[in-house]
Formats: sequence, structure tokens, C-alpha cells
Amino acid sequence: MSNPNGPHPAQIVKHIGTGLAILGVLLFLSTFISAALNFGNFDNFDERGRSMALRAVFGFIFMIAGGAVHGVASSQERSKGDNFNDGNWSPGSDSELAGPINIRCPSCRALNDEAAKYCDQCGKNL
Ligand SMILES: [Zn+2]
Repeated sequence: MSNPNGPHPAQIVKHIGTGLAILGVLLFLSTFISAALNFGNFDNFDERGRSMALRAVFGFIFMIAGGAVHGVASSQERSKGDNFNDGNWSPGSDSELAGPINIRCPSCRALNDEAAKYCDQCGKNL
């Protein structure tokens, strides 16, 4: 699936979502790392506590937002990608495309495989 116009917009949004989520995880983890590094150190405890709580909250928000953006972008990319591939935007074409494609015999109207040269039922040319 190559796109001559560069990456799909949804793909870019997906990468932004991933970056946001990673940033959130790092921010969230840094809280625990600094908590571990300063274990037993009660100097400026209140100030550090506030900064840690802030980082934990923002890290958590970034993780959630990044995950949500990533999820939405992925689903958009999937649905748009399908529509770009078959070149038509009509909904419900997916179910038709999902099964094997059959062609109808012009003389007896029996369904035959697309690849078949002769009709299964009457043997006429398809
Ligand atoms: Zn036939």
C-alpha cells in the first residue's frame, strides 16, 4: 500500500499520538524515578511532591490522550485506506469485496468463479 502523495494524514496523527503517549510514559516514570532517588530525603519535600504530582498527572493525561489519538488515527487510516484501495467511497462495498468474486453465466445464469473460462453448469464460454 504505497501512497504517491506521501504519508496519509492519519498516519502523521498516529505518530503524534504515539509520541504523546511515550512522552506521557516517560513523564510518569520520571516521577517514580525521582521518588526513588529522593527516598528518605525530606528537604523541600512539599515542593518536590507538588512537582511530582504535576508530572504524574500530566504524564497520565498525555498517555491517555496519546493512546486515544493513536486509536482514532489508526481506525481512520484503516477505513480510508480501504476506500482509497478500491477507489470508490460507497459504504457497504466491503462485504461484497470480502467474498470470492463470481460472474454469472450469460446463457444459464449460474454463478461461476471469476477465473473460470467455461460455465460449470452448461459449459458455455464465459
Ligand atoms: Zn451456463
